Amino acid sequence: MSRVYNFSAGPAVLPEEVLQEAADEMLDYKGTGMSVMEMSHRSKAYDTIIKEAEADLRDLMKIPDNYKVLFLQGGASQQFAMIPMNLMKNRKADYIVTGQWAKKAYQEAQLFGEARKIASSEDETFSYIPDCSDLPVSEDADYVYICENNTIYGTKFKTLPNTKGRTLVADVSSCFLSEPVDVSKYGVIYGGVQKNIGPAGVVIVIIREDLIREEVLPGTPTMLRYKTHADNDSLYNTPPAYGIYICGKVFKWLKKRGGLEAMKEYNEKKAAILYDFLDGSKLFRGTVRREDRSLMNVPFITGSEELDAKFVKEAKDAGFENLKGHRSVGGMRASIYNAMPIEGVEKLVAFMRKFEAENGVVR
Ligand SMILES: *Cc1c(COP(=O)(O)O)cnc(C)c1O
Repeated sequence: MSRVYNFSAGPAVLPEEVLQEAADEMLDYKGTGMSVMEMSHRSKAYDTIIKEAEADLRDLMKIPDNYKVLFLQGGASQQFAMIPMNLMKNRKADYIVTGQWAKKAYQEAQLFGEARKIASSEDETFSYIPDCSDLPVSEDADYVYICENNTIYGTKFKTLPNTKGRTLVADVSSCFLSEPVDVSKYGVIYGGVQKNIGPAGVVIVIIREDLIREEVLPGTPTMLRYKTHADNDSLYNTPPAYGIYICGKVFKWLKKRGGLEAMKEYNEKKAAILYDFLDGSKLFRGTVRREDRSLMNVPFITGSEELDAKFVKEAKDAGFENLKGHRSVGGMRASIYNAMPIEGVEKLVAFMRKFEAENGVVR
């Protein structure tokens, strides 16, 4: 067996221990004589799996009791519609557009009501986070929407926007569980799990109870109402059962490693290795405003498309996979989620240093 260093933005690297454990339990889950994939979602064994997953997530994120945790399907993208369908009481919402994912959410919301773009960083290819301390938030906005970590561009909100009392909704797909959060500051926090937690197909929605309403927009399908899933503890229909089981294992792995405080420390240390190298490099450079840099997604370029392509190819040959930047921006991007070991980043930097020297750049 040989494993590569996988810098994919998503689906992405998972903890090896978790994968090994899942492999060990594949044919016979804890004496049930079957795989979790083959098991009824109404069985006692599965009930324990999903309940423990929720309890561990609550513990990790210190989720207050007046918030529900929902394990849903449809990816993060389905939330682009579910959020307005369930929350747009006044049919008005304000969006802060800091990248492709926020833009897609903003465009989807326009199907349902008046979505206003109150700030954007598109003028500089989304390479920074706009000042959100005093935005023209509408008094009757049902919510203010952000994408907290911009996977494609590598920026992150270091302080949450001043929503002037309106409900904050955040897509945290690519920074989920990478550091502690104060859940009480949000109305809804959600994310697809394939970036930092588990297999694609599961989206976790953490929602304040008063936002789970009977009165949703007319025509909202049963499956797209938060209430349907909240009333049934995410078991209204068959949930993405195997995916939730893996998420549960990752939650336990995080707890064993010391929880989100410890993860933050580890992630900061890991990201600094790469950013410090980029800041000193004569060939490579980061593309994001320093104070807005993400701990999870690190885009960089050489300034030459040819050299970028050469780098990506040679890196792949050396066992560093998926370093090509998003198709919309080019260059390179190293995604260094929770499960990327620090050695992976150290070795990548050593490889970059060697590439620099081989391509005629003297430090
Ligand atoms: C990947 C990603 C999405 C889209 O996720 P899907 O599960 O593919 O719908 C949305 N938002 C962010 C921030 C992402 O990184």
